[in-house]
Amino acid sequence: MKIIARALDDAARQLSATSDTSRLDAELLMAEALHIDRDKLILSPPDKKVPKRFWQMVKRRGKGEPVAYITGRRAFWNIDLHVGPGVLVPRPDSEVLIASAIEHFDGAAPDRILDLGTGPGTLLLAALDVWPDATGVGIDVSRQALSYASANARRLGFERRLKLKLGNWAQGISDGFDLILCNPPYVADGAELGPGVREFEPDEALFAGETGLDAYRALAPELPALLKAGGLAAVEIGQDQAGSVTALLARDGLEARVADDFAGRPRAVLLTWV
Ligand code: GLN
Repeated sequence: MKIIARALDDAARQLSATSDTSRLDAELLMAEALHIDRDKLILSPPDKKVPKRFWQMVKRRGKGEPVAYITGRRAFWNIDLHVGPGVLVPRPDSEVLIASAIEHFDGAAPDRILDLGTGPGTLLLAALDVWPDATGVGIDVSRQALSYASANARRLGFERRLKLKLGNWAQGISDGFDLILCNPPYVADGAELGPGVREFEPDEALFAGETGLDAYRALAPELPALLKAGGLAAVEIGQDQAGSVTALLARDGLEARVADDFAGRPRAVLLTWV
């Protein structure tokens, strides 16, 4: 028991030079190395040797690689997603889109869900988990992202409830949807990012031109035709983009509200028909 506890302390100390979440990182990596849940690791640490691969994982994390790429998965809302190099790691910030949708439908459920830029299926699969009778479409420009999304859908047992399409935003889609979810790239090309993000995560999921607004410009003309009456479009934004994105997405008859993430930062623009 002591051995594992000491290794966790040592790893957390090592990682604190490069990570703001060094203790959590060490715990997640140890749990993965031992093939147990983090809860179990904390509540009843096994009396075992430290697996060699734990230190290999700590080394990778020390170089900035996201924990989720090292463990191969990441929890989001109520589901676990498999992820790896080539897809954006799901972030808790994005959970505000799901929370806002639950609030909007208020006990009712969307029938049809569209996820524009689905990545490993993050928002779409979380929404399909929340509303078991809903079906959805997930679009992404990255084949690699779609292969993660499809494997995640299969693992969660949702493969018959969704279609995945390779494409540029809503190109080729003409149906109406009750719920549109979208976490587009919104980082300005030259912006500073958290440790390891720029180095390890895919550019096409992060960067959107000089001001970070290019994806919203592309999406703005497409959204109104896709959103059904009574529906909601929830679009993730960078914390300083509420004003600019609201202005870009505004259309006659559409109402835009801003929702904050759990850290209190503006994180989504919510569009509904008035
Ligand atoms: N929130 C992410 C970050 O700052 C960016 C994700 C995105 O561009 N959609 O790391």
